[in-house]
Amino acid sequence: MEKLWAPWRMKYIMSGTMDGDECFLCEKQKNPDEDRENYVLYRGKHCYALLNTFPYNNGHLLIAPYRHIGDFLELTDEELQEMMKISQMTIDAIEKSMGAQGFNIGFNLGRVAGAGRADHIHLHIVPRWNGDTNFMPILAETKVLSEALEETYEKIYMALQEENT
Ligand SMILES: [Zn+2]
Repeated sequence: MEKLWAPWRMKYIMSGTMDGDECFLCEKQKNPDEDRENYVLYRGKHCYALLNTFPYNNGHLLIAPYRHIGDFLELTDEELQEMMKISQMTIDAIEKSMGAQGFNIGFNLGRVAGAGRADHIHLHIVPRWNGDTNFMPILAETKVLSEALEETYEKIYMALQEENT
């Protein structure tokens, strides 16, 4: 697998927003009125989906249980099932709205495995396109990136709405 180069992730790595007091996955789900600002794409019964604000690729999103839980073995059947269900829905939406040609999906369990937030499980959905290994290589400007995020949010959000009507 060819690796993606995402230099703006340095900001994330350097910002110290890794495991801290505040859990962004608990924080961003708190207020449904602020879903757009928080890039929350979809709310299920047990789990929700949001855009990763430090993406490896355009459309990189995360699916997490509402519960602040770090032990994969303790996820309930309902949580497990809904995570997969939301994966299916979001993959469909990204294919339709952004024309993704493939996906990397998976969990980093534990800090040693690279989890930025090891105490709140989340599933990564990373869309892939032919030749995307140099995805936005000069896109280190936060402003430009946030504009790209808003646009991406809109695309996937609209596609999800269509799926659910
Ligand atoms: Zn949490």
